[in-house]
Amino acid sequence: MEFQRICLVHYHEIGLKGHNRASFEMRLLRNIEALLDGFPIVTIHRISGRLLVFIKEGTSWEVACQIEDRILGIPGVARVSCGYKTHRDLGELCDAAGQTLAEVGDFDSFKVVARRNHTDFEMHSMDMNREIGAYLCDLFPDKKVKMKGFDVKVGVEVIQSAGYVYARSLPGVGGLPVGSSGKIVTLLSSGIDSPVATWRMARRGAVPIAVHFSGRPQTSATSEYLVDDIAHVLEHTGCIGRLYVVPFGDYQREISLSVPPKLRVIMYRRLMFRVAQAIARKEHAKGIATGESLGQVASQTIDNIFVTNQVMELPVLRPLIGSDKQEIIRDAQQLGTFDISSQDAPDCCTLFMPRSPETHAKLPEVLACEEPLPIDDWVQELVAHAEVHEYACPACKPLKAHGADRSSEESESAD
Ligand code: ATP
Ligand code: MG
Repeated sequence: MEFQRICLVHYHEIGLKGHNRASFEMRLLRNIEALLDGFPIVTIHRISGRLLVFIKEGTSWEVACQIEDRILGIPGVARVSCGYKTHRDLGELCDAAGQTLAEVGDFDSFKVVARRNHTDFEMHSMDMNREIGAYLCDLFPDKKVKMKGFDVKVGVEVIQSAGYVYARSLPGVGGLPVGSSGKIVTLLSSGIDSPVATWRMARRGAVPIAVHFSGRPQTSATSEYLVDDIAHVLEHTGCIGRLYVVPFGDYQREISLSVPPKLRVIMYRRLMFRVAQAIARKEHAKGIATGESLGQVASQTIDNIFVTNQVMELPVLRPLIGSDKQEIIRDAQQLGTFDISSQDAPDCCTLFMPRSPETHAKLPEVLACEEPLPIDDWVQELVAHAEVHEYACPACKPLKAHGADRSSEESESAD
C-alpha cells in the first residue's frame, strides 16, 4: 500500500511556554513553511505538541531526507522523524513500518517503540510493539530485535485520528523559533566568532539585524563579500534579517591621526558600538550582540569591555563570552561559516592597528581623547551611509516594503 510521506517535527522548549505556546508554535510553523519553499510540501499542521509536515505524493526517499535535513537546522526544532501516515489500523501500521525500515539503509538490529496518546485505540503499546516487531522479523529475517544498543528505532505513534510510523529520526538544533524574542543588532565581521554569535542569538529566538564595518574606502571590499557569503549561510535557516554595511575606513583614519596608538582599538570599538546602537534604535531592536570571548584578544579584557560598554544604553549581549576558541570553531564548522571565515580579508580590524593595543584602558583617558572629536556627527554620517542588504527571513520584513525607518516586523507581535 502507498502511504502519505510525513515529517514529524518535535520541539521541547516551545512546549513549556504556557499560554504563549500557540504563538510559539505558529511562529515555528510559519518559519518552517517559508524555509521549505521550493520543496514538495502539501501543508503543515499542528498536532498535539508536534508539527506534521505533509510531503507530496510521489516524492522520493532522497528528497524526503533533504526536507528533513533542512528542517533540522531551523531554530526551535528539537527532533525530526521522517516516515509515513497511516489509518489507525494495525495492518497499515505494520506495512508502513516495513516500508520505512527498508528505506533507512544499513542496519543489523532494531527495536519498535509504540505509543498511543488516546486509550480509545484498543491495542496497548506493549502489544503493538510485539505485533509490529513480529511482522518486521518476518519481513527482515536476517535482522535482530534488540532492546538495548539497537541500530534503528522504529517509532509508532497512534493519535486520535491517525497513526505515524518512522525509522529515520534525527536531533535538530533546538532553541526557540526565530522571531519569538524580538530583534537584536549583531556586530558581524568576517571572522570566526561573530557568525557563531549571530547564529546563537537567532537560536534563542532573536531576529538578527547584522552590522558590518568595512575598511572601505581605505581597504578593498573583500570583507563585505565574505560577510555576504556568511549571511547567505545564516539565511538558509532564517537566522538573519538584514545586513548594514558601514564603510568605516575614513573614520578610522581620522581616529588614528588624533588618538595615541594604544587607544585606537578602544576608540574604534566605542564608535562601532554607538553606530550599532543608533541602528538598533532605528530598527526597534532591543539590544546588540557581539562575538567577544573574555580575554581572547586585547580588546576583550574586562577593563576594555567596561570602557567600551560606557557608550551603551541598550544591553550588550555576548553569547560567546565564556566559550573557548575550539568550541567556537566547532560551532562555526557545523554552521558552515568556518571555511568562509578562514579566508583572509582586510577589514577595519586590520586597518591602522597599533603594535601593542591597550589591554587595561582607563575611562577618563579615553574620554579625554574623544572630547575634541565630532563623535555625534560621525555616528549620524555612518548610519546615513550604511548600505542595506536584505535576506529572506520569515520573521522579518524587508525595509523597503514599509518605508525606510518604520519597519513593521512580524516578530514584534511575538515579543
Ligand atoms: P570575530 O572572529 O567575530 O571577528 P575577533 O576574535 O576577531 O572576533 P575582535 O576583532 O576583537 O575579535 O572583535 C570582537 C567583536 O566585535 C566581533 O566578534 C564582532 O562582534 C565585533 N566586530 C569586530 N570587527 C567587526 C567588524 N569589522 N564589523 C562588525 N563587527 C565587528
Ligand atoms: Mg575579527
